[in-house]
Amino acid sequence: MFDLSGKTALVTGASGGIGASVARMLWSNGASVVLSGTRLDRLEALSTELGSRCFVIPADLSKTEDIDSLNKKSQTVAGSIDILVNNAGLTKDNLAIRMNEKDWQDVIDVNLTAAFLLSRSVLRSMMKKRWGRIVNITSVVGAIGNSGQVNYAASKAGLVGMTKSLAQEVASRGITVNCVAPGFIETAMTEILTEAQKDAILDRIPASCLGSVDDVSACALFLASNEASYVTGQTIHVNGGMAMI
Ligand code: NAD
Repeated sequence: MFDLSGKTALVTGASGGIGASVARMLWSNGASVVLSGTRLDRLEALSTELGSRCFVIPADLSKTEDIDSLNKKSQTVAGSIDILVNNAGLTKDNLAIRMNEKDWQDVIDVNLTAAFLLSRSVLRSMMKKRWGRIVNITSVVGAIGNSGQVNYAASKAGLVGMTKSLAQEVASRGITVNCVAPGFIETAMTEILTEAQKDAILDRIPASCLGSVDDVSACALFLASNEASYVTGQTIHVNGGMAMI
């Protein structure tokens, strides 16, 4: 149904569960994809799996110089970016009373600041083309909070505010900016939960199961498509009914 032929997408955190699924989904619907992340072996494995229309550019988004060069390197190998998926994210959980400033800042830097800097850097070429899609992967906890995740929840709520503001700034240029907010999805990020934690989470999910990475990437695909051209500043929640916002 969706045709992204001729479009180039940059997916950050493409070495992770959701990022790899988003990259596969955009690629399967015709886009060329730039796979970025910190784990080169995984990025190369995904690139080998996909074959053509695929480029690997490692970048550590905690480093300003890597953020600055990522768009430039992408343009050189794949052409200007039409679709940016800010998916890279990390957690450094602790109760607020025990959280040190570094763990606060590290999470804000990668989850929020890098997303802003990358969005800013792709906007110029999107404006010229009068077409662009920015999809930010936030989280249900950005909307409802979560004990032990003040840094993570703040970064994800920040993404939602950033998305709405940016969406207003660029809507007249044919550029949309939206979020996908996963609930609990089966990935490395949720593998670290104990069985007791998983049971407690499942009790709160009407669908009675964790989501899959493809549940998330299907929404990212829609938001990246031509068909979603009148959808901007929105957050699509993908959480099995855990929070109906
Ligand atoms: P994951 O750990 O499998 O993937 C995270 C990705 O971010 C990895 O590719 C990792 O390399 C990348 N990353 C981390 N630090 C980085 C850095 N400094 N520079 C560049 N890349 C970096 O987890 P995932 O579940 O696939 O997470 C993807 C996104 O989805 C994240 O933003 C996460 O917050 C969000 N999310 C996940 C869930 C879930 O249940 N899994 C729920 C809500 C939101």
